[in-house]
Amino acid sequence: MQEHDADEQHENQLHQHDHRRLGRELGLFDSDPLIGAGLPYWLPDGAAVRHSLEEYIREVERRAGYRHVYSPVLGKRELYEISGHWQHYREDMFSPMELGGQHGEEQLVLRPSLCPHHALMFRSRSRSYRELPLRFAELGAMFRSERTGVLRGLTRVRAIQLNDGHVFCTLDQVAGEAAAALELIRRAYVALGIEPSRYRLSLPGPGGKYVAAPELWERSTALLRAVLDDSGLDFEEAEGEAAFYGPKIDVQVVDNAGREATLSTVQVDFHQPEQFDLHYVGADGAKHRPVMVHRAIIGSVERAVAHLLEQHGGAFPAWLAPVQVAVLPVTEDQLPQAEAFEARCLDAGLRVELLGPERGSLGARIREARLAPYQAVIGAKEAADDHVALRLRDGRRIDPLPADEVLARIGALVGAHRVDLWE
Ligand SMILES: [Zn+2]
Repeated sequence: MQEHDADEQHENQLHQHDHRRLGRELGLFDSDPLIGAGLPYWLPDGAAVRHSLEEYIREVERRAGYRHVYSPVLGKRELYEISGHWQHYREDMFSPMELGGQHGEEQLVLRPSLCPHHALMFRSRSRSYRELPLRFAELGAMFRSERTGVLRGLTRVRAIQLNDGHVFCTLDQVAGEAAAALELIRRAYVALGIEPSRYRLSLPGPGGKYVAAPELWERSTALLRAVLDDSGLDFEEAEGEAAFYGPKIDVQVVDNAGREATLSTVQVDFHQPEQFDLHYVGADGAKHRPVMVHRAIIGSVERAVAHLLEQHGGAFPAWLAPVQVAVLPVTEDQLPQAEAFEARCLDAGLRVELLGPERGSLGARIREARLAPYQAVIGAKEAADDHVALRLRDGRRIDPLPADEVLARIGALVGAHRVDLWE
């Protein structure tokens, strides 16, 4: 009996924290059969979360020496024949679009990854060893023709916004670049308030899915294993989980229902530089082949937001929250001061919502704004003194403080991507 109750409670909790349910309830994202399955759209509050996440990533990458690029979401079929996607990954790709009349002079494909575009951008001009490591990053779309049956909310979609990056470097630089990418991932997880369930070294398995180059596989596997050993992180090795072109470090997370998924990856690739005949001019004046390190700090934006939603039950860290400050005048009389404070929040770059007395009692409005990390209550006394009485989402109450100080302290915590609400 008791076990049954526990099961039911567990089921209930799963349902409560299911990202699809939360996404709809909180007005973050949704989908429409007319757009198609696996093609969710982002409503304003969801777009605010996504925008903050993307801004954070771009900033972190910029500081880590990445240069951001843009590339088109389509490419010619030949591009993917050269990269190997056509031979090894075709079942996950959308069918080509025929252009140029009945006989199809050319075929365009929705890209299954960003690597080939970035490889061509590396190749677009002559490169010297002095430019290496050359780090390209792009938050770009890629596409996967998932079967309808496996589509699920934001975790399995057909159009994916990937936080991708490719480092073109010398063999000697690979370990350092892979370790630096792992460190970026570790720091991002702290800011996001999430924890990896495990680190996995993903190796090839049997079957023809992988490019045949045993020597290169051995070299890249040894490099990644050494990076993991040096990092001191516990990891497990798993066969059959590699990319078709090389082994990878996968950072795994577990969702609310206990399903494991890969969020972030670091990969070493000797294959695509070979296929695209990439080279740089070394200190010796001769041509050398660079290595490509592929990495995704938060993986896809879709999967990251799904995981954040389930992890935090909709109560995002303040820097990600769709509404960061809820302004609550106690009565109509404080409406002018509340509106002025709302304007100052906007000026300070904060996302703010004013919930006036017409929305109900103060208690009801506090409940309505329960997911906002900061609730700024303004009563008669506060209004007269230009003060704000802050309530934190976790239930803590802060003694009334000058409005300017409240803004400065919230601004500093949000700007530093802190998970704690106050200090
Ligand atoms: Zn790649």
